[in-house]
Amino acid sequence: MNASELAGEPSGWPPLREELRGIEPYGAPQLDVPVQLNVNENPYPPSAEVVADVAAAVAETAAHLNRYPDRELTELRAALADYLAADGSPGLRPEQVWAANGSNEVMLQLLQAFAGPGRTAVGFAPTYSMYPEYARVTNTRWVVGHREEDFSLDLDRARALVQQHRPTVVLLPSPNNPTGTALPPEAVSTLCGAVGDGLVVVDEAYGEFRRDGTPSALELLPRHRNLVVTRTMSKAFALAGARLGYLAAAPEICDALRLVRLPYHLSAVTQTVALAALRHSSELLGRVADLRAERDACVDWLRAQGLTVADSDANYVLFGSFADRHGVWQALLDRGVLIRETGPEGWLRVSIGTPAEMGAFRKALTEVLEEAR
Ligand code: PMP
Repeated sequence: MNASELAGEPSGWPPLREELRGIEPYGAPQLDVPVQLNVNENPYPPSAEVVADVAAAVAETAAHLNRYPDRELTELRAALADYLAADGSPGLRPEQVWAANGSNEVMLQLLQAFAGPGRTAVGFAPTYSMYPEYARVTNTRWVVGHREEDFSLDLDRARALVQQHRPTVVLLPSPNNPTGTALPPEAVSTLCGAVGDGLVVVDEAYGEFRRDGTPSALELLPRHRNLVVTRTMSKAFALAGARLGYLAAAPEICDALRLVRLPYHLSAVTQTVALAALRHSSELLGRVADLRAERDACVDWLRAQGLTVADSDANYVLFGSFADRHGVWQALLDRGVLIRETGPEGWLRVSIGTPAEMGAFRKALTEVLEEAR
């Protein structure tokens, strides 16, 4: 259904909420083309060994599907705490971890519990396009500040915006989507201080792809009780199809989320799959180093073509600037390469794929740039 169909008939049928009329559902085109570099997925499927272990674990779980799952996610929270302990958060306890169906659901639950009618959430554009949607569906006022030309945050301006609007939630992706920009720890600490009793949510969906020397906000958790760090298994763990996102925060924050989660929100099958994947984390994460190297090579290559490229700590690269970015996007698609038309006017984003996929992208873009000359 397109936006005008969703807008409903003039008579007002179906009786959609006013603020949802005319809105397009979120989502990039899901097209069946040979080279898919548009939604920041991990291009490497799980190995036969991981598939076999996941399948065996699911078979065992299937024998008990007459029962509801563990709604406190006890085993999974302990396994995720162990994983995060090894990535910048030593000593993290299971009660400081919470999980849901993708980090999208984790962040929606955060707004359901800590924002809502009469409250404000703040973000800094260009940024992840789902944030205003969480605000809309939770009836939260959405205030958007702006990033600098190089997509960094000017801390004085960011602090002033937060002090002016007094949000209960600040959403800060690091690295930012779609620009790939990571936040320095001073930015996180400054905003944790500026927001008073509100929460600062650092969305580290792509945290594992950060460059050497870029710290994770996990390290700051012991210093700020109002800091929440969200992560996902969709990207570095190559598990987008399983839908598992999680967060690390003070136990009081995790506890509060139990008030808004739906009963048994995380299925027994999802919990089992995530636990099996965590047992194989070193193998699943083994490709992250390859993807980071491929990302750095992609940045260099795009710059060598004379394009402007944002520094990236993620598994995608934002580049431009094109007078007709839609034309470039379409010309790449015509050559079987699907990337994403997103970000500020004139820019395009490419997700990092396998060496073969990146070769196809470079070949197609070379042809398109030559045609445009
Ligand atoms: N945060 C950011 C910045 C993202 O780009 C995405 C995925 N596109 C998510 C969160 C959500 O990912 P998931 O729900 O798969 O965990």
